[in-house]
Amino acid sequence: MTLPRNPLRGQPWPDSTTAPIGTALQPSVAYTAADPDALDALYTGQVAGFSYAREGHPNATVLARRIDALEGVEGGIVTGSGMAAVAAVMFGLLKTGDRVLGGTQLYGRSLRLMREDLPRMGIDTVFADPTDGPAFAAAITPGTRLVLVEVVSNPTLRVADMSAIARAARAAGAVLVVDNTFTTPAAIRGIDIGADVVIHSVTKLLAGHSDVTLGYVHAHDPAQRKAIYDTATTLGLTPSPFDCWLAERGLMTFGLRFERAQANAAMLADMLAAAPQVARVLYPGRADHPDHARAAALLDGQFGNMVTFDLADTADGGRAAANRLVRAAADLPFAPTLGDVATTLSHPASSSHRALSPTERGAIGISETTFRVSVGIEPPEFLRDAFARALAAV
Ligand SMILES: *Cc1c(COP(=O)(O)O)cnc(C)c1O
Repeated sequence: MTLPRNPLRGQPWPDSTTAPIGTALQPSVAYTAADPDALDALYTGQVAGFSYAREGHPNATVLARRIDALEGVEGGIVTGSGMAAVAAVMFGLLKTGDRVLGGTQLYGRSLRLMREDLPRMGIDTVFADPTDGPAFAAAITPGTRLVLVEVVSNPTLRVADMSAIARAARAAGAVLVVDNTFTTPAAIRGIDIGADVVIHSVTKLLAGHSDVTLGYVHAHDPAQRKAIYDTATTLGLTPSPFDCWLAERGLMTFGLRFERAQANAAMLADMLAAAPQVARVLYPGRADHPDHARAAALLDGQFGNMVTFDLADTADGGRAAANRLVRAAADLPFAPTLGDVATTLSHPASSSHRALSPTERGAIGISETTFRVSVGIEPPEFLRDAFARALAAV
């Protein structure tokens, strides 16, 4: 190993005849090239390499290749958040005059992007219910450039009619974008259900430890892939190397975590359904879920880790009972996220869906006593006890 003489220049890795089994973390922003010809070779794609971290860095590539493998694709990119992935797709593929169709129950910020931001740029946005295949298909018209759906909605866990949607999008020449965050590649791969573009909030189940905010996007078409990459790079929607490094570590246990969380979710859904304090349980794996048949056909037995329930009426009304449940569930973090190793509890009316009026919430099946549980990987007995205690306090 020869040491560079400039005392402020980064040191090369010490020579070693052995190789690390963990992935190296590379936080360098810039990379040196031998000379201008070498840079030309890099930028024209004749040789591989990195130049500037906003355009790409090794830890992002390592993480993207692992998520690619789960989705069965090549060439996806990692972004600084799930919303950065959604934004890169919208701003990379759309122009003034285009029309976008979205599902009525998309992630809150995706809805906001479509309702507030895209219209400011002269992009028309419309919404339809993706569980109603014929109605959604009818909303895809010749002017529809892009369709954004989530297979399983938040928080009511309704399941989209993906075959009708994919058929209609293809017939109209619209780009079908699937946000696969809730379902994950363990249940569904974007390419298997006809998606042209697949998005993940890596922040959630894939990274799984609530310590990074990251996204992922892959487009099937190389020109669209390049447009999305260029937009992400220009707008600076880039991930940090350390976050990618942490997420890669989280991803190593994704399969095990998902299996365990899903088994816990099925157990918890049945337990809640049998509890007198609970009026309704929504879990796609249960026969009483409104879309159970579709979920069974689409999700290959992988019904996920999310469970939603409503408390039964109490004398003092919904919010008071909701407050009592949360206070009594001190072992279950009350936090607006999902996909963590630990079970988290969220109350859509005061968090994700607070911008809607009570009537609007009611129309999509959310009341003051609706709770969404992101089930984690705790021992099942712990969860049974924690929920029994919380329900007893209601
Ligand atoms: C959380 C989430 C997002 C946004 O991801 P961030 O990483 O928080 O930006 C997008 N879609 C769905 C379905 C999500 O749950």
